[in-house]
Amino acid sequence: RIEAELQEFATIDFMTQLPNRRHFMIQIETELARIQRAKEGIAAILMFDLDHFKLINDTWGHALGDRTLRHFASILQAELGTQGIAGRVGGEEFAVVLPHADLADARAFAERVRQRIVEAPLAEGDRRIALTVSIGIAVMNAADASADAPLSRSDAALYRAKERGRNRVECH
Ligand code: GH3
Ligand code: MG
Ligand code: MG
Repeated sequence: RIEAELQEFATIDFMTQLPNRRHFMIQIETELARIQRAKEGIAAILMFDLDHFKLINDTWGHALGDRTLRHFASILQAELGTQGIAGRVGGEEFAVVLPHADLADARAFAERVRQRIVEAPLAEGDRRIALTVSIGIAVMNAADASADAPLSRSDAALYRAKERGRNRVECH
């Protein structure tokens, strides 16, 4: 039982209960290896970054910031179901790998998540705290030398989503 618990601590982010960065990276590498073995196939990599999250912390406090992260993680996981794997890859940054998905599939998924977040503000007493997320998407294929490459492409797309006003989805 202790061994199982240690294994869980090493792979799961305690706050959100999602895979941590390290474990998530192993999952993408595994998916890339599968694509390379088959010599064909793709997977979409999505990066999510909460908009103006520092402002939420500064306005409402760090504890509510933490609640916001759990709120986002649970919506992301509920929307994802079993079609892929989500991870917490940074403080307020999350990523998803969607096996077999092309840009259009991934964009449809990302738009659903983006919309769900807009429609589900966090309740704090009788107040509602609006939350939005920016999303960048890239496709991983057999030509990628490592999972870092598609991840940084989706990061570049995310950067563009921020630049173009946030609360939006951009593809690489
Ligand atoms: P942008 O729209 O450009 O992403 O703005 P931002 O304010 O979200 O971006 P920035 O990277 O400046 O701020 C991220 C903030 O997330 C800063 C940091 O204090 C906060 N943060 C990181 N990890 C945690 C955490 O575990 N809990 C809480 N409450 N805040 C966290
Ligand atoms: Mg960030
Ligand atoms: Mg942010």
